[in-house]
Amino acid sequence: MSSIPPIDLARQYTTIRNEVETAVIDVMASGRYIGGEAVTAFEAEFASYIGSTAGVSCNSGTDALYLALRALAIGAGDEVIVPSFTFVATAETVSAVGATPIFVDIDPVTFAIDPDRLKTAITNRTKAIIPVHLFGHPANMDRIMAIARNHNLKVIEDCAQATGAMWGDRRVGSIGEIGCFSFFPTKNLGAFGDGGMVTTDDPDLAQQMRVIKEHGSPRRYHHTKIGINSRLDAMQAAILRVKLPWLDRWNAARSDVAARYAAMLAPITGLVLPQEAPGARTVWNQYTIRVDRNDAALRDRLRERLLDRDIISMVYYPLSLHQQPVYAAANRLPLPESERATREVLSLPMFPELTEAEQEQIMDALKDSLVDL
Ligand SMILES: *Cc1c(COP(=O)(O)O)cnc(C)c1O
Repeated sequence: MSSIPPIDLARQYTTIRNEVETAVIDVMASGRYIGGEAVTAFEAEFASYIGSTAGVSCNSGTDALYLALRALAIGAGDEVIVPSFTFVATAETVSAVGATPIFVDIDPVTFAIDPDRLKTAITNRTKAIIPVHLFGHPANMDRIMAIARNHNLKVIEDCAQATGAMWGDRRVGSIGEIGCFSFFPTKNLGAFGDGGMVTTDDPDLAQQMRVIKEHGSPRRYHHTKIGINSRLDAMQAAILRVKLPWLDRWNAARSDVAARYAAMLAPITGLVLPQEAPGARTVWNQYTIRVDRNDAALRDRLRERLLDRDIISMVYYPLSLHQQPVYAAANRLPLPESERATREVLSLPMFPELTEAEQEQIMDALKDSLVDL
């Protein structure tokens, strides 16, 4: 039996190979490798898919967050509320603009920022909240937007893992002031390299982000602010244009994989399975279970036993951000759920093309590995 990877991008490539290769060759033949039709068309198509009026492409999800913070004029002396249990970019970009990330605990069921704990983190320096739709599951945007409105805070959605996810009848990324997306290859809509996008309904914010990502220049060689160079390559844009129409089908296939996991793993004791909260439609970037004994060594042993059976599972994330050396001096609110999650989570293989036979192999291995763990 061959090993089961956490994600198999080559498998997906075979299903769209002709379309992708034609698109790439067209860009190469055009002689236009930066900007141009592929980039502007993809920005419009992506914004329309999300339900926002504007899309501004950039080099990565990290740059998307940075551009959002800069456009909202967040900087030194400001505080931005972020969950502690997330990928580092969510807080790193806050630090990069000179502001201070304030870490708030997560809801243990959705892994997203806990609205009940949000309010206690707000001070007169707070400027924004960055909810993260972690593992593809939307944060509770009704509660978050209500708190933000009451306290006059901006909301930047970190949608890096949740392209296509819905909160109520809206796609994530169209609810807060700005949505930030990543096209890193393992995200739900992945490029063949790095890429990112910001979405917004505010034309002024869109314009500011466009200026900042182009060396602070509203016109070529005229610089009005300190910017950066952050581009989505024409080649990546052309590939993403091919892939976007497939996204809903791939997300639906992920849902089928998740439903099969739920049915197969329900009878196994000792595991907590991921749930979809009322009002949320997740896009299953990860299928993250918990070994709910609050013991990292035990969880790591399970991971090793699965590896012995050629199944590669992942720990996203082994440390919360307030536990990272780089944030050792950060302010501490109590973050028990963020810490507990780092000891319990295990992400099983998850991608649209994962087969039922492979999932059965994973289920058998899990069942056997849990004996005398
Ligand atoms: C991937 C990711 C990012 C950063 O995206 P890049 O394109 O890798 O820079 C930001 N936030 C979260 C939650 C992510 O998963």
